[in-house]
Amino acid sequence: MRPDLWLTLKENVLVTDLQMIRPDLFIVLGYVSWWCFNNNLPCRVTSLIDDVPQRVTATHSEGRAADVSTRGFGPKDITNLISFLEEKVGHMGAFSKSDGKQRVAIYHNVGLGHHIHIQVKRDLDGGFYGKESRH
Ligand SMILES: [Zn+2]
Repeated sequence: MRPDLWLTLKENVLVTDLQMIRPDLFIVLGYVSWWCFNNNLPCRVTSLIDDVPQRVTATHSEGRAADVSTRGFGPKDITNLISFLEEKVGHMGAFSKSDGKQRVAIYHNVGLGHHIHIQVKRDLDGGFYGKESRH
């Protein structure tokens, strides 16, 4: 059975936070959702702008990162989704502090389980996105 929502949010993620993320991140999430829909997989966002202690960058609090659950994904699904995103929206990806490489999607585990971290580059500064827009 096909999922009928373009994405779902984990219980702790505020639906109003979808309005506080950067527009380019919204576009990337659209591509994630589109790919998931076409591959019969759920698109479940587990984190938007809230911090967790393990975070090493400010991408989430700045409204330019989202975490997507890979529950139900096979290893091939994960690499296929990441390749798809690199092809379609790789130019929107954030640059890594450690190696300078631009990546829009990273599969990793920072202590809360494996997931795909989606991130966009630090453009559009001056707008009120992420934590700043909550006040
Ligand atoms: Zn993340």
